[in-house]
Amino acid sequence: MAESNAYQNALAQFDRAVSHLTLKRGIAEYLRFPKRELTVNFPVKMDSGDIKIFTGYRVHHSTTLGPTKGGIRYHQDVTLDEVRALAMWMTWKCSLMGLPYGGAKGGVIVDPKTLSAHEIEALTRRYATEISILMNPQGDVPAPDVGTTPQIMAWIMDTYSMHQGFSLPAVVTGKPIEIGGSLGRIEATGRGVMLAAREAMKHLSLPIEGATVAVQGFGNVGSVAARTAHELRMKVVAVTDVTGGVYNPKGLDMPALTDHLHTTRSVASFPDADTITNAELLALKVDVLIPAALENQITSANAANVRCKVLAEGANGPTTPEADDVLNDRGIFIIPDILCNGGGVVVSYLEWVQDLQSFFWDEADINRHLERHVVNAFRRVMAEAERLKIDNRTAAQVLGIRRVAEALMIRGIYP
Ligand code: NAD
Repeated sequence: MAESNAYQNALAQFDRAVSHLTLKRGIAEYLRFPKRELTVNFPVKMDSGDIKIFTGYRVHHSTTLGPTKGGIRYHQDVTLDEVRALAMWMTWKCSLMGLPYGGAKGGVIVDPKTLSAHEIEALTRRYATEISILMNPQGDVPAPDVGTTPQIMAWIMDTYSMHQGFSLPAVVTGKPIEIGGSLGRIEATGRGVMLAAREAMKHLSLPIEGATVAVQGFGNVGSVAARTAHELRMKVVAVTDVTGGVYNPKGLDMPALTDHLHTTRSVASFPDADTITNAELLALKVDVLIPAALENQITSANAANVRCKVLAEGANGPTTPEADDVLNDRGIFIIPDILCNGGGVVVSYLEWVQDLQSFFWDEADINRHLERHVVNAFRRVMAEAERLKIDNRTAAQVLGIRRVAEALMIRGIYP
């Protein structure tokens, strides 16, 4: 098996979890497959006047628990297998977090950094139109992921609404507040990561104040996680993004680093710190390591170098099954992705509910719901891991898969 194939990794995790469940064979087999997959090849008129063809995907893994939910990624390395994996993880994540959703994911093969704002808008509006045969407020509700932003969600919402003839904010979440976005959504994933990390520290009887933290990826998830760690009086010692990385064992000045990112769009040139590579960051001796970039960062090649106490998976799929075995053997406490970053989809759900009822809550209400969902899920995963004597990831997946399988049995196999 190619360790770098995210879908093969998702299936390997699934098979491991299913071995602890008593599912009918046909049910387990059914849940291994995405329900439907759409590939779209579409033209975009570039600023130069040239027409360029782009390829995108939208995959629905499961609709058993409700409408499908899952982000849209713009990245040059997007593949159908990656989108399949991300869609499957969304099914188990929504289920684990107690939401009435199935899993989906979308992606376009593009490096958005190479396009102008106008070209990104044109690409987004055409992609949204192409996938609108699957996307709607009752059936499939996208959200941001790597390379996509609240502005891009606004263009998706506007495009879909223009075709319908009236505004339908509930077709997508992660929108700007002005057009039906939720307070607390931008921060939700990173905040959820740190709520889960805080619970892990308490579980392990480790002090939170002064705990050292390293973060790989300084986008939506990584930057908010780092800022929240700073608010919890932890010490963020290292951060990397696609441009490079910075390290200061005394702790990075987080407000200054955030300002620096806004002005330079890169963490690499931040003063008052040494430079650090991804490989060095992942091997730092820290209390909490937060991969918050892409899949397959911790593999059989580098798992033996990881020296954190808690691995808080902000990213989806950052650790391969082979690496899991090494980390578990070495007693590293993993907060698996579907639990650790599940706060994002919890607040996306709250945004969707607010849009459907056209009634909006204040941020304190949102954050209360977020904390309750993350803490409850954390406790349930700990109890299941203890009950079945299994690792945290398998326990999280067992819980996620079991709820979907039970719902499927109650609904029955049509016809
Ligand atoms: P983003 O596009 O906002 O940020 C990605 C960050 O990763 C950027 O800082 C980029 O520079 C960095 N990066 C890319 N390649 C890198 C590399 N090789 N080394 C170091 N850094 C690198 O994306 P995001 O929304 O923050 O998503 C990050 C991860 O979190 C993804 O795995 C995504 O699926 C997951 N996630 C996101 C959300 C959400 O609400 N946005 C929710 C759940 C999970």
